[in-house]
Amino acid sequence: MVLDAFSVRVALGVVTLTLFVLFIASYRRTKSSYAGWWAIALLEYMLGNAAFLLNGTTHQLWANPVGNVLVVAGSFSVWAGARTLRDLKAAPWLLAVAPAITAVASVLENPATNVWSGGSVYLAMMTLGIALAARDLWLIQGTHSHLHRGLSMAAGLLAIYYLGRWGVYTMEGPGSATFRTYFGPAPSGLISLVLLVTVSFSMTALSSDQLIKGLRERASRDHLTGLLNRGTFLDLAGTELKRLHGTESGAAVVLADLDHFKAVNDEHGHRAGDAALKAFAEACKASVRSTDLVGRYGGEEFVLFLPGATQERAENIAAEISRRMSSMEVPGGGAFPTVSYGVTSSTPATADLSFMIEVADAALYSAKAQGRNRIVGADRLGAATIADEARS
Ligand code: GH3
Ligand code: MG
Ligand code: MG
Repeated sequence: MVLDAFSVRVALGVVTLTLFVLFIASYRRTKSSYAGWWAIALLEYMLGNAAFLLNGTTHQLWANPVGNVLVVAGSFSVWAGARTLRDLKAAPWLLAVAPAITAVASVLENPATNVWSGGSVYLAMMTLGIALAARDLWLIQGTHSHLHRGLSMAAGLLAIYYLGRWGVYTMEGPGSATFRTYFGPAPSGLISLVLLVTVSFSMTALSSDQLIKGLRERASRDHLTGLLNRGTFLDLAGTELKRLHGTESGAAVVLADLDHFKAVNDEHGHRAGDAALKAFAEACKASVRSTDLVGRYGGEEFVLFLPGATQERAENIAAEISRRMSSMEVPGGGAFPTVSYGVTSSTPATADLSFMIEVADAALYSAKAQGRNRIVGADRLGAATIADEARS
């Protein structure tokens, strides 16, 4: 017995519509780009399948190619969504290429009379889109739940099924008994139905994961500069220092404080002050390695943790930051304020981050006392002397 394609398509349409409405609601609530792409994919599947319902009518001429294009676009939207879970974007031209090729193939083989016009390309593109989605779902790393592995396997199986459809289609044709029984519109529609429901169900969990990840990311960053906030900086640097402790390598801490920064606000306004802080943060990021940590310690005070750095390297980085800033102007006019630095290091690394910060702070204090716009280095002993001098 061969399933009735029309009924399966109607059922598929109803289910996709329901899921689409649910996903739009989820997207509006979470603004998860994953949910967004999935809603787009459902819309494309739904409209594509609706177009296929016109097969056998006079509209088949345009509806059949449109259906092929929309369903292929849907699979590539699923892929784009999977990529957002890896914080990657799908290139827009790549999203357009597969539907475009499908469109050309579909109009070339008499779509008015042939419901399988462009069938071979359509099935190949479907296989490709779903296989790409399976790959990206598999490669998701880190904080997301392991649900993505199951989803990836489901998508992988669907890709294999589509590969089978494509193989039997090209070898035996769409009229063959094997194709109609196992790979025709009705059985494939039924499989799509089961998968859509399963995938949509787990999708909610994945878009929540994405939401939580986004919130966590925002909570760990300083709103103005995008640098790590104080708490996150201390957590990450503390963990890293513990890891380094007991190895041969050292670490350095740099505290930076903009000189007479209050005057920038007073003379050019708070917005100019904000822009100057952002520019300084950019200069810090541009001067360090990707493994270094940069945080906003407080108002116009910044902190750098440089794993593996010597005292000399840390002081060079401070000099590099000031060199970058010296050519800059505060928006609204005037030279960028100079910067004072306190730098300390230990090789091999101590385990005590708060002690290192204390020493760097004492060195920074000394830099200010000596007339600002300078880099003062201090070790454990130096810090004690500075503290004594400060007290006297
Ligand atoms: P010093 O050389 O001794 O460090 O002098 P200073 O003026 O830089 O230091 P002070 O601590 O007196 O002033 C810091 C100023 O930084 C005061 C505060 O208004 C400003 N500030 C702190 N956070 C922000 C911010 O987010 N935006 C702006 N525009 N200004 C800020
Ligand atoms: Mg200051
Ligand atoms: Mg300050």
